[in-house]
Amino acid sequence: MEATHNGQVVYSAFISKGILLLKIKLIQPESVDFKAGQYLAVLLPNLDKASYYSIASSPNKKGEVELLVKEDKLGTGAAYLYSLQVGDVVQLHMPMGEAYLREDSDRNLIFVAGASGASYIRSMIHYLDETNHLSNREVHYFLGCREESELLEPDFMQALAEKYKGFHYYAALSHQEGWGGHSGLITEVVDRLMPNDMSEWQAYSAGSPAMVKAVADELIANKNLKPSEFFSDLYTPEA
Ligand SMILES: Cc1cc2nc3c(=O)[nH]c(=O)nc-3n(C[C@H](O)[C@H](O)[C@H](O)COP(=O)(O)OP(=O)(O)OC[C@H]3O[C@@H](n4cnc5c(N)ncnc54)[C@H](O)[C@@H]3O)c2cc1C
Repeated sequence: MEATHNGQVVYSAFISKGILLLKIKLIQPESVDFKAGQYLAVLLPNLDKASYYSIASSPNKKGEVELLVKEDKLGTGAAYLYSLQVGDVVQLHMPMGEAYLREDSDRNLIFVAGASGASYIRSMIHYLDETNHLSNREVHYFLGCREESELLEPDFMQALAEKYKGFHYYAALSHQEGWGGHSGLITEVVDRLMPNDMSEWQAYSAGSPAMVKAVADELIANKNLKPSEFFSDLYTPEA
């Protein structure tokens, strides 16, 4: 795979437990056009290999991309990205992916993420907020993690829920009881809280492939979502 862009790391810090936020300023070329929800490949130096990461930032930021990288001591891509220091140069191939935000639709939206899948949703939610497309519809964001410290930007999501009447944020923890929010698997929480007729809704999901398939099954079989309105680069339901 050939690099389309060279970038320079300008920021690297943990944003939640086990998730590193990397900001990469584009230097050659100096900008990228992409759609919210697309991803990129990081080319690993001296290896004939690339690792794939959602672009976590809004497409309105054309000169810089943000990545959220899950800690993985055995993964070569994660190990490389965790080793980077401010000033280091990286090679990227982008944009990639078909599960981007459909801007020509004004359907109500459900976003379902597991752990670092929140990166994919983050780009879309920031973009919808910046372009004033959260005010005219119902938007329900479900995020499943093991424990509270892993949640991504909970304060920002709570602030959006206060700003927009139709925006709802539900965090669910699978390995922490008694924390004041939802508990259990994210599919169970979706089943409990969403209406049975979601035939006019649109869905976006990211996380482990098994979780994304379970989310698609739940929404299509139990909630009447049209398969063609379910978007994920990790699983495509049959029409
Ligand atoms: C479209 C898309 C978007 C994605 N977006 C993100 C994102 O935004 N953030 C994110 O964190 N991830 C994301 N991922 C997932 C990420 O690409 C994977 O976690 C990928 O495996 C990381 O690559 P790697 O090179 O670190 O792991 P690899 O080196 O390819 O290893 C793959 C897995 O095998 C395991 N493994 C490797 N060696 C061994 C061994 N010797 N014994 C046992 N297990 C081993 C590793 O632990 C790792 O989980 C995305 C994936 C896709 C397809």
